[in-house]
Amino acid sequence: MKVMAFGPHPDDIEILCAGTLAKYKAQGHEVAIVYVTNGEVGSSTLSKEEIAAIRKEEAKNSAAVIGAEFFWLGYPDEFLFNTPEVRLNFIETIRQFEPDIIIAPDKDNDYHPDHTVTGQIVWDIHVMSAVPNIKTKTKPFAKIPDIFYMDTVAGINFEPEIYVDISDYWQKKKEMIECHKSQFEWMSDLCGTSLSGESEIQAKFRGYQSGTKYAEAFKRVKFFPATTEKDSLL
Ligand SMILES: [Zn+2]
Repeated sequence: MKVMAFGPHPDDIEILCAGTLAKYKAQGHEVAIVYVTNGEVGSSTLSKEEIAAIRKEEAKNSAAVIGAEFFWLGYPDEFLFNTPEVRLNFIETIRQFEPDIIIAPDKDNDYHPDHTVTGQIVWDIHVMSAVPNIKTKTKPFAKIPDIFYMDTVAGINFEPEIYVDISDYWQKKKEMIECHKSQFEWMSDLCGTSLSGESEIQAKFRGYQSGTKYAEAFKRVKFFPATTEKDSLL
């Protein structure tokens, strides 16, 4: 099985689904982390170029914690739009990895524009990655991947359908979150929160809801043509 997660900003995947990715990896599956924007607004002291370079390194180090393949699309933070060029780049990225499952933000219920646009583009192009008349560098992918939506930050507006027990992977997830050192300072400057502290509250809360110590929450995306009978993660 191949699992590919699309995160709008470097750290979203760690906060919302890294425990599940670590669990997939530990069970012998292949995992890829895609960061769509370069996170260039995430600092109150550094220039856009400086913080983008730091965040790319941090995201790469985090992917290395679980041996995930790493993709960096480099679009401007807070200004991601659903254009033909961006769609083709998403299609090319999917064709390069050939995922069975894509995990993306919830296009209908997330509240950040880069998140809803990322979810919308994944939704818009997931069938197109299999269509021969849509050309990119890599040949069309023969399969239409399943999509699952990841939780929202703080769980706002998100009604989970699926919980993955990540109790045994919380330490790995924490290690991945802690790779994003620059964001500990930024989040504290911006909203007085601690990245790993708040993530632990959310993972514990989703665990509390589902009867485990730590969990991550997801929704299954329904569409036609339906692809597999698989209706859950792990
Ligand atoms: Zn984000």
